[in-house]
Amino acid sequence: MDFTTLLLAWFRDNQRELPWKEYKDAYSVWVSEIILQQTRVQQGKMYFNRFLETFPTIERLAEAPEDQVLKTWQGLGYYSRARNMHKTAKKIMREYGGSFPKDTGLLQKLDGIGPYTAAAIGSFAFRLPVAALDGNGYRILARYFGIDTPVDSAEAKRSFTTLAQSLLPAGDSASFNQALMDFGSLICTPRPVCGICPMIQTCSAYRDGQTGRLPVKKEKATAKTRYFHYLDIEYGNATFIRQRTGNDIWKGLYEFPLIETSSPAGYPNLIKTEDFKKMLDVSSCTLINIYRAKPHKLSHQTIYPVFYRIRLQSGGNYLQTEYLEIDRDDFSRYAVSRLIEKYMDFFHNFAGL
Ligand code: SF4
Repeated sequence: MDFTTLLLAWFRDNQRELPWKEYKDAYSVWVSEIILQQTRVQQGKMYFNRFLETFPTIERLAEAPEDQVLKTWQGLGYYSRARNMHKTAKKIMREYGGSFPKDTGLLQKLDGIGPYTAAAIGSFAFRLPVAALDGNGYRILARYFGIDTPVDSAEAKRSFTTLAQSLLPAGDSASFNQALMDFGSLICTPRPVCGICPMIQTCSAYRDGQTGRLPVKKEKATAKTRYFHYLDIEYGNATFIRQRTGNDIWKGLYEFPLIETSSPAGYPNLIKTEDFKKMLDVSSCTLINIYRAKPHKLSHQTIYPVFYRIRLQSGGNYLQTEYLEIDRDDFSRYAVSRLIEKYMDFFHNFAGL
């Protein structure tokens, strides 16, 4: 039996039950696919339901303020996904009358939609004959066909897509694409369970003892290291926050005044920096607590965060001009990164501050 026949036979008896599989409309497919990028299925289920409850239609998403979109996304990370969804929803309302285009080329012109998501929407919602290859798909094909090309290279994008396209069954790209995802999540996982795999007789990697080596990836660039010092300032019952702008991480989210240093710096060194002096007069500050969070790993960088809880008696003028002065009790109304959310939980739950 060939690859496609084996895969579809396995899928018929073993496919996963997932909430988004019930939905075949382009909006729901799109929401589920974006949420599932970089997110585990269990966590994705909760956010998928929450997102559709808050924004049941693309129109409601387009009309929502960005802060509400980010707040709904809070905790999922990679916030550019939420910002891109918001932009795309507006564009679809403006340029396509509220309906996704039934063309994978046009879909890829929308913010946050790459070849994989376009193909997933195309096949699941519009039954277009297109193969949707995510990490699962690349892994399975690399192993089954014994392909050495690094799966994160431009060449692999072309050659794996051509291969997957040639394997599509007539008239049912959706089952093929869904089968690849389920098979990659349950059988041909990063540590494959070849013992129960229906493809074991014909799999190249298994035959050649290469299941641990394939798929091949390019060597990773070393992650950048950053040192973040957050100043959680207690000014009466107020604190100060600011929305991040620019093209750095967490754009659009709120955070405490931040000082970034190029190497680790304890509090005695921090108060000597120009950034600190600009914000605060050390003689009117009392350091209440220090919270060193675990290193926060993002795709290309590792952040070493420290939170300083500081009581400020007077001299908050600079902060009042440059930052938003808010009541501490209102903090939860603002969309923040997972890192800051964890810090706030820690102090509420354990430190009692
Ligand atoms: S035999 Fe093992 S490596 Fe080959 S497709 Fe099956 S699970 Fe993957």
